[in-house]
Amino acid sequence: MELPKIIQDAVSSFTKLAGVGEKTAIRQILQITRWKKEDIAQFSHAIDRIQEIKRCEKCRAFTDDRICSICANPKRAQSKLMCVVENDMDMMAIERSGQYFGLYHILGGVLNPLMGIGPDELEIYKLLDRIKNEGINEIILAINPSVEGDATCAYIKKIVSENVLVERIGFGIPIGGSLEYLDGMTISKALENKQRL
Ligand SMILES: [Zn+2]
Repeated sequence: MELPKIIQDAVSSFTKLAGVGEKTAIRQILQITRWKKEDIAQFSHAIDRIQEIKRCEKCRAFTDDRICSICANPKRAQSKLMCVVENDMDMMAIERSGQYFGLYHILGGVLNPLMGIGPDELEIYKLLDRIKNEGINEIILAINPSVEGDATCAYIKKIVSENVLVERIGFGIPIGGSLEYLDGMTISKALENKQRL
């Protein structure tokens, strides 16, 4: 039996999601057919609006506005401490720990020459500008441990002014591990146990 075109189209969209195969997609869509009309409309509207998401002009985090809520917080905006992370998920993980009160900067990944990701593909020059313009005197590299992560930290240490203290968190994060999967306690320990590069 061939699936109706409407279901087929929905399946092909759903299977774009990580970890969703055809069977799961069909099951989910058949479920959605039982939803109320307004719930389906709300669901598709929410997906559609993802296109409108912006990046904070300062830290590059996702935001509804020009500046994210952390950068807009006057207490934090005065901080001279900046935590450098790979992505939004890692930033959220550190926020969840409730132990960090400085600024953030999202790199958008790590250096990976084999994949063609050099400094130009990341927000590294923007980081240098911010360190200068915002008078940052200490940066904590919360970069996940991997060959690429280590190389990224070494590169940042090399290009940042000598007057800036550069530290890296390490304790408790396994090689190849990711901040996003750690609990708040492990993250606060990792922040406490940062080491100077
Ligand atoms: Zn921001």
